[in-house]
Amino acid sequence: MPELAPYAAGESTSLGRIFAEPPPKSRSEFQRDRDRIVHSTAFRRLEYKTQVFVNHEGDLFRTRLTHSIEVAQIARAVARALRVNDDLTEAIAFAHDLGHTPFGHAGQDALNECMKDHGGFEHNLQSLRTVDQLEEHYGAFNGLNLTYETREGILKHCSPGNARLLGEIGRRFLEDRRPSLEAQICNFADEIGYNNHDVDDGLRSGLITLDQLASVSLFARHQAEVLAAFPGIAGRRMIHETIRRMIDAQVTDLLGETLRRISAAGVGTIEDVRKTATLVGFSAPMQKENRALKTFLHENLYRHYQVLRMTNKARRIIIDLFSAFMSDPRLLPPQYQQKARGDDPPQKAEHDPKARAVADYIAGMTDRYAMKEHRRLFAVGEI
Ligand code: MG
Repeated sequence: MPELAPYAAGESTSLGRIFAEPPPKSRSEFQRDRDRIVHSTAFRRLEYKTQVFVNHEGDLFRTRLTHSIEVAQIARAVARALRVNDDLTEAIAFAHDLGHTPFGHAGQDALNECMKDHGGFEHNLQSLRTVDQLEEHYGAFNGLNLTYETREGILKHCSPGNARLLGEIGRRFLEDRRPSLEAQICNFADEIGYNNHDVDDGLRSGLITLDQLASVSLFARHQAEVLAAFPGIAGRRMIHETIRRMIDAQVTDLLGETLRRISAAGVGTIEDVRKTATLVGFSAPMQKENRALKTFLHENLYRHYQVLRMTNKARRIIIDLFSAFMSDPRLLPPQYQQKARGDDPPQKAEHDPKARAVADYIAGMTDRYAMKEHRRLFAVGEI
């Protein structure tokens, strides 16, 4: 492996773990983080959580798990090309969606609404909460006890109020500092991943069409390239050839622009990275094309009536579950009843342990578990 760039995150500059542990014997600290994430329960749940399409709508659509794997692939490729820490990058990418509720953004919005008088719900914060507190795998501590750098990368956004509650890990949001390049790379890999795979899934579902995509320059110019290189190509093969070129163009642009910014800012260390404006990014022309693609997906896929029917139903499931558990916490499984009473350490700091325990329980559900739980609580015919 080539030597890391001086501004890469490294073990020698790491701010370490909350609970001190002996160093790993045969792998790096960041590899250990990644491995702990892969072995976590929350990671396996991603398999049955909606990205855009609900899991049972089709076997070939992206789930949160396959999305996270694609994000990790893109992020790791970018990290290697920039000579920064690809183990850390991969760890952040695998963990970046761990806090997502069932049913994608519709689920998160519904849960946030339910929690508005109890501190709110934000999937990004929940991802950190999952690795810091909710996973129950180790004898010595709650959570996965990950390094500061992985946790910093997971916490992508944070309100000033939550940043103050979080202490050290939230400080950069109050001090206008940035996370490592590895974390910045994951944000863009996430965006490159979902914009492109949503085109693929959107076409597969028939909710968007090739005719509509002719108005999206990033798609249209690469499709023209494919048709010129392979006359007569059509169907899935043409779509895949086009989307791989779109991803490649975005990654190549990202690398060029990021290297340009790193050199223009004279960045030499990870401390420089943290105090400089965001370094990872697209060039202005690619930013424009990327924005047009996002707008297209918002207008034509995420707000398609068939998707809205699903999100509307998802909302009702989340709201019903929340109100049932809040009005009678005895309906919760025993370990969550205990959390709801505020007996457990993660709940002790909460001003409303009952609401937080209910939110943790619901957020941890897969799509199909949430539907089953809803049936168990509300389907009168199934007593
Ligand atoms: Mg994501």
